[in-house]
Amino acid sequence: MAFDIEMIEKVYATMAERVDKARELVGRPLTLSEKILYSHLWEKTPSQAFTRGKDYVDFAPDRVACQDATAQMALLQFMHAGKKTVAVPTTVHCDHLIQAKVGADADLTRAKSQSSEVFDFLSSVSNKYGIGFWKPGSGIIHQIVLENYAFPGGMMIGTDSHTVNAGGLGMLAIGVGGADAVDVMSGMSWELKFPKLIGVKLTGKLNGWTAPKDVILKVADILTVKGGTGAIVEYFGEGAESMSCTGKGTICNMGAEIGATTSTFGYDDSMRRYLAATDRQDVVNAADKVAEYLTADKEVYANPEQYFDQLIEINLSELEPHINGPFTPDRGTPVSKMKEEAAANGWPVKVEWGLIGSCTNSSYEDMSRAASIVEQAVAHGISPKAEFGINPGSEQIRYTIERDGIIATFEKMGTKVFTNACGPCIGQWDREGADKEEKNTIVHSFNRNFSKRADGNPNTHAFVTSPEMVAALAISGRLDFNPLTDALLNDKGEEVRLNPPKGDELPNKGFDVEDAGFQAPAADGSSVEVVVSPTSERLQLLEPFKPWNGENITGAKLLIKAFGKCTTDHISMAGPWLRFRGHLDNISNNMLIGAVNAFNQQTNKVKNQLTGDYDAVPAVARAYKAAGVDSIVVGDHNYGEGSSREHAAMEPRFLGVTAVLVKSFARIHETNLKKQGMLGLTFANEADYDRIQEDDTVNFLDLTSFAPGKPLTLEFVHADGSKDVILANHTYNEGQIEWFKAGSALNLIAAGKA
Ligand code: SF4
Repeated sequence: MAFDIEMIEKVYATMAERVDKARELVGRPLTLSEKILYSHLWEKTPSQAFTRGKDYVDFAPDRVACQDATAQMALLQFMHAGKKTVAVPTTVHCDHLIQAKVGADADLTRAKSQSSEVFDFLSSVSNKYGIGFWKPGSGIIHQIVLENYAFPGGMMIGTDSHTVNAGGLGMLAIGVGGADAVDVMSGMSWELKFPKLIGVKLTGKLNGWTAPKDVILKVADILTVKGGTGAIVEYFGEGAESMSCTGKGTICNMGAEIGATTSTFGYDDSMRRYLAATDRQDVVNAADKVAEYLTADKEVYANPEQYFDQLIEINLSELEPHINGPFTPDRGTPVSKMKEEAAANGWPVKVEWGLIGSCTNSSYEDMSRAASIVEQAVAHGISPKAEFGINPGSEQIRYTIERDGIIATFEKMGTKVFTNACGPCIGQWDREGADKEEKNTIVHSFNRNFSKRADGNPNTHAFVTSPEMVAALAISGRLDFNPLTDALLNDKGEEVRLNPPKGDELPNKGFDVEDAGFQAPAADGSSVEVVVSPTSERLQLLEPFKPWNGENITGAKLLIKAFGKCTTDHISMAGPWLRFRGHLDNISNNMLIGAVNAFNQQTNKVKNQLTGDYDAVPAVARAYKAAGVDSIVVGDHNYGEGSSREHAAMEPRFLGVTAVLVKSFARIHETNLKKQGMLGLTFANEADYDRIQEDDTVNFLDLTSFAPGKPLTLEFVHADGSKDVILANHTYNEGQIEWFKAGSALNLIAAGKA
């Protein structure tokens, strides 16, 4: 489906030369991750060895993928880049905005009518700019990417944290914010700190009830939710080779849950089989020619302790099925320990729902193995004790499993088949009774199980496990059921044991689909009109931010001095605000409403210096903007940590904040501020934070000589007329100073100067 074999062959054509050069520069054998990184440098042929975990490096990804919630602002920005088409192959996927309630057809119809303007907008922008568009109902972004676009040795970015799923096909696929996607779509480089490397050696072979999911549940238990931060996880060993490609995808998918930059596997037969089954034999033919470059050098896997920053070894033959949770995916419990753990922690053992699917676990293998458990229960006359739901990852999967009778098997248990979309995985689940907030347990095969994530109920204890274990636990109705040792009672009161799951890695009759839901872009989109209603509350065309006027900023008012932690969630909250992700004016009403005001320790209550009254942060910012007065924000350490969402930088820019002065920044947010044409500054002397007062007016004294490496001088005029002059450091290079001068990085791109 519209994958680009020419692009893939181009990547492979230069791979040997670039990797060989990198090996020479680094002076030792290379891991797979390093081969992919060095063969995707923006400078093309490597000219230096980089230090892992330290050097910032410019890369040239092969592809971009965006999901519907994040694509809106990314595409609105891209429209300003002044380009005729995207610079690299790009796709947009409608999957997050579809709620699961009644069942696939009714839910999809409702979503299409509720979000029609968003879907129409995404469709028309895609059509215009050469972007492949996957319609609502076509499936979940990462499943579709695996089925159609991922390829061994490639590099892609996507505006969703589970973009990493494509590592199952030997890619380096990384989740980013919309601003990064816009850069790459516009033909610019993409910057990443050269990652550290964690090696995971898999010995033995999965057997019985254990599934690929258990590998990552175990890794998450070992590394915790932060253990992979700044690192690529590279899996290898006989255990890795014995696993299916889609199983590898599951493992890479949940690399996001340990904070890893991404995860990957070396090219092997499972990938060949999957590529061939998904109609990509030409990718196999091309990959086979460079196969030695699509896995690590032999010495690396022979002596991994010498080449990875951290090494983990897991024997698959001994690995038990795991059930991770509740409330965090890194709390791992082997199935044999669940009875005592659940009792000791007071977790409700009655399972109310079992949910199978999401981008994590909706392969043919997953569905067929789970169905084999359901089949046994039906044959033995066991009625399920919990409700059952599945959300297939793509229309191709749904169509194929329907053809092969797998859906019919699930339906014998009264299973609800939801739309091929995210649904319950992202809280798009209208679960009956969730508003009562009763303490209860659900089990699912998704990746995340934070409080409220599935159904909005903070008392829902969600546990993550493999699809086959979800099936067994939902049938038994008990969290502490161990299918390896426990028997079930059938409807006649007889004891019955479930045999281990069986399934097919790939469909014997091949994949099939009638309408996959893909819309190819117009060959020439120049006459395609993108329509956004001026009265829409969800979408708003962007106006370019004004360029700097070349003068010192004077008379700026302090908007808020934020106290303590101020993450991107504090700056631009998610939840109900998600629906305004494509409307900068409306979403700006959440700007900094979660930040604590250092002067009164309250949230969303700051002084309007023009009136002396206290009001909400966005309201005060709007008052300053209306009066033609600039404002500045002061913050504490690691300001802007959390997600890479660009709204946290765009909103203050839109509401007239010209500078953010903090003790330290989370780096991605600092870059986002720069891209939006703002001043992201740090106190040269941290103690100066305490000198900032509530009624301060700020004058920049030397902005006219803004230059790399030269601190700026700011004068804070207090209410009593006294002044403090402080120094502010910055990390702007020449190019970034040009972004500031132009009003934003995009303005510079649009002017053809970047
Ligand atoms: Fe994200 Fe869940 Fe959708 Fe996957 S299925 S993309 S994890 S919301």
